[in-house]
Amino acid sequence: MGEFELIRRYFAAAPCAQAAEGVVLGIGDDCALLQPAVGQQLAVSTDTLVAGVHFPQPCDPFLLGQRALAVSVSDLAAMGAEPLGFTLALTLPEADPPWLEGFARGLSQMAAQCAIALVGGDTTRGPLSLTLSVFGQLPAGQALTRAGARPGDLLCVGGSLGDAAAALPLVLGQQVAAGAEADYLLQRYWAPQPQLALGQWLRGRASAALDISDGLLADCGHIAKASAVALQIERDSLPLSAALRTLAGERALDCALSGGDDYRLAFTLSAQYLPALQAQWPEAVVIGRAVAGQGLQLLDGAGRRLDPPSAGYQHFGSRGD
Ligand code: ADP
Ligand code: MG
Repeated sequence: MGEFELIRRYFAAAPCAQAAEGVVLGIGDDCALLQPAVGQQLAVSTDTLVAGVHFPQPCDPFLLGQRALAVSVSDLAAMGAEPLGFTLALTLPEADPPWLEGFARGLSQMAAQCAIALVGGDTTRGPLSLTLSVFGQLPAGQALTRAGARPGDLLCVGGSLGDAAAALPLVLGQQVAAGAEADYLLQRYWAPQPQLALGQWLRGRASAALDISDGLLADCGHIAKASAVALQIERDSLPLSAALRTLAGERALDCALSGGDDYRLAFTLSAQYLPALQAQWPEAVVIGRAVAGQGLQLLDGAGRRLDPPSAGYQHFGSRGD
């Protein structure tokens, strides 16, 4: 199968590549053409996933397709953007039809959930890696950035933390578990749901936001730095799922604080919006607040400061990875 036949069969013909609002021209020409609505800015983000680094190889291509798109679209959610389209640069060791079929199905499944269309890409031969660029739109000037948290704001997250980190030993075959709780954690790893509706609701309400990809502590550190505030995190307020508590045991808190791959939103907002937040997003949880100062403070149930385990995944970090 040649390159063009591969592109046509698995990508141009996929459900996710069909006509969509905001896409003037999709796969097949030198560029795709996107048309943001009048008065909207374009939000753009790129993520690369490398086999053996960001996902185990071999793995189920359907799950990989879902996950690759979800982690990219999560960046649109974090800015409060509405998805328009995405491109896929795919490097493959070989053209394996069952693999491509499963991958394209997973991609289309997540694309349907996120209402985003595949509009182009590139296909090359080499060690398996995927680069996805996502494009979204949001009203000019209303993007949720990391800078803007003010002392007194509440610090919130969009749902349970640490689930994907707790799934990692299962994904890597280092831990064996079956049943509903294992299934839940694996689902949180392979098919995280980008919090698009929450992100759009937070426009004009949250003072700062991001999506948690490298771990709560590392990512809240980014908000603290960009906003020039200190963020206090109450250890006992962290939302831990029942599955996490059961399967991770005493590692549960570490997973929630430092584990990556959550793709929940973390955001700060003025307390005046709390009743509306809780009414609209019951799974969102207040985990602390912004105060004058800098950096992160982890507090125990009595409000005493604990030493946070300084962690979060960094590719060129000092932890030897
Ligand atoms: P060019 O030679 O202009 O760079 P290509 O031959 O690489 O174009 O690709 C042909 C068309 O197919 C382009 O519209 C491109 O965006 C699209 N395309 C290539 N690979 C993929 C892919 N993996 N997924 C989606 N679209 C793709
Ligand atoms: Mg060209």
